[in-house]
Amino acid sequence: MQGAMMHRPLRIIDILRHAAEAHGDEGIVSARVEGDLHRQSYAQTLARAAGLAHALTALGMRTGDRVATLAWNGHRHVEMYYAISGMGAVCHTINPRLSREQLLYIIHHAGDRLLFLDLTFIPLIESLLSNLPEGLRFVILTDRAHMPETTLDALCYEELLSAQPGDFPWPDLPEDTASGLCYTSGTTGNPKGALYSHRSTVLHALQVPICQTSSFRAGRRILPVVPLFHVNAWGLPYTAPLAGMTLVMPGPHLDGASLFRLMDGEDVYSAWGVPTVWAGLLAEIEAQGRIPQGFGDLLVGGSAAPRVMIDAYEARGVNVAQAWGMTEMSPIGTHGVLPPRYEGARAEDLIAAKCCAGRRLFGVEFKIVDDTGRRLPHDGQAVGELYVRGNTVISGYFENPEATHAAIDAEGWFGTGDVASVDAEGRLVIRDRAKDLVKSGGEWISSIDLENAALSHPAIAACAVVAMPHPKWDERPVLVAVAADTARPALEEVQAHMAPHFARWQLPDDLIWVEELPLTATGKISKLTLRERMADYVLPELRGGAA
Ligand code: AMP
Repeated sequence: MQGAMMHRPLRIIDILRHAAEAHGDEGIVSARVEGDLHRQSYAQTLARAAGLAHALTALGMRTGDRVATLAWNGHRHVEMYYAISGMGAVCHTINPRLSREQLLYIIHHAGDRLLFLDLTFIPLIESLLSNLPEGLRFVILTDRAHMPETTLDALCYEELLSAQPGDFPWPDLPEDTASGLCYTSGTTGNPKGALYSHRSTVLHALQVPICQTSSFRAGRRILPVVPLFHVNAWGLPYTAPLAGMTLVMPGPHLDGASLFRLMDGEDVYSAWGVPTVWAGLLAEIEAQGRIPQGFGDLLVGGSAAPRVMIDAYEARGVNVAQAWGMTEMSPIGTHGVLPPRYEGARAEDLIAAKCCAGRRLFGVEFKIVDDTGRRLPHDGQAVGELYVRGNTVISGYFENPEATHAAIDAEGWFGTGDVASVDAEGRLVIRDRAKDLVKSGGEWISSIDLENAALSHPAIAACAVVAMPHPKWDERPVLVAVAADTARPALEEVQAHMAPHFARWQLPDDLIWVEELPLTATGKISKLTLRERMADYVLPELRGGAA
């Protein structure tokens, strides 16, 4: 028997319509590329999105057309998120940190018809112009006064909006209509596209705040450092207005001092981003001897949050939560809120619990499997490749049957490429990316575990463990580190520091000091680049023909 309930399609624009009505005091604060601090309410944001939807229609955009954005976190980018999807087109967010070849590949692969870009990115697009698709049109995200000289035949965003009405007949799109397109950062091969729908996006926006309860409360302010140009800024442009929170947007200023100033001045309660960003903020907090005013909640994701970082923030009264997810999952798959029994727990038990990658989000299912595809128990011990399933997970890559075939298993689950254990409470421990594990003598060593232990040495500010080839053991771990100060302790000292947590054979065979570590397009340490740089590296034991 069917239920006798209405069926209204889930639409992204209804999130903003709700916020404009129910959360009139909240809105968006943006540190803009032009240098000012701009404020607008959600009602103003809705009116501007309506104006933009009219402008898109006038420019010939129709349902299913791809409209690209190349922009920092700011109110105009949020307007584009809602206007483009709201009028039925697809918002293709472009990550400016991709290589030139990757940028050209995704713009062509997506079939973009219109590109909105921040002032910052004009030189980049000018330099790619001769290789961009014919007929691609440009809109520069600024007002007439700030329009620069450019070889691009470009429209001015504020001019485009100024002539338009402040309401729009948002169409009743079927809820499975495509709404957004984001390409993975593609560390190997071409980037692959995750094509989100209105339904998956709205469900994700509902799933996250009911689980990640520590971060969301109406009237509070939230800062996405995680970019709108990748992984939908972890869904915050949707969850924040839905929960009645003001978005504080950092624009292009992502260094520790700028973030501190913005958070302090704007009373930001919750801040979300990758560990490398929080290392920068921590240095500023240490320099100033205090945390930004009102700062209470830090959400770390994108890579494993180092234990020393969790420790340092918690010691200053900031509640740290870790979440795990991926582009292909809209992107959040876990939340970092601990079960109530942790209330009043000993600090070390609390920190240990926060070092895991969080617990399963409502609506996302996990399975871990061994090399033969056999399911392993969720007992916190068994380790295997993690597969996921749910309404917010891709069913395949955008126009890429080969990649889809490789990623989706016979039961329809998506293979994450992460190696993990899951316990009976749905708690996830990411042991490694499958390709980053060190395989030594038939046993696996987790590079994440080694990095965590090395980072607790005071002389090490940042580090990465990479596997280097060995004729007998297959691979051996090598520690590449950035010094915190002038001290550069020898390998033996760092090994001795790490020894209590590992068997002797698991410790790194070498320690290489570098000035800085290479980062990926999403701000994570790029082990692929490190491995490429170390192509000619020979382990100490093998040097001088000793092998
Ligand atoms: P992206 O698609 O760029 O968001 O990257 C997704 C990948 O980032 C995942 O498959 C993980 O390998 C990694 N990742 C994300 N969050 C975490 C976390 N909390 N701990 C460890 N790895 C993470």
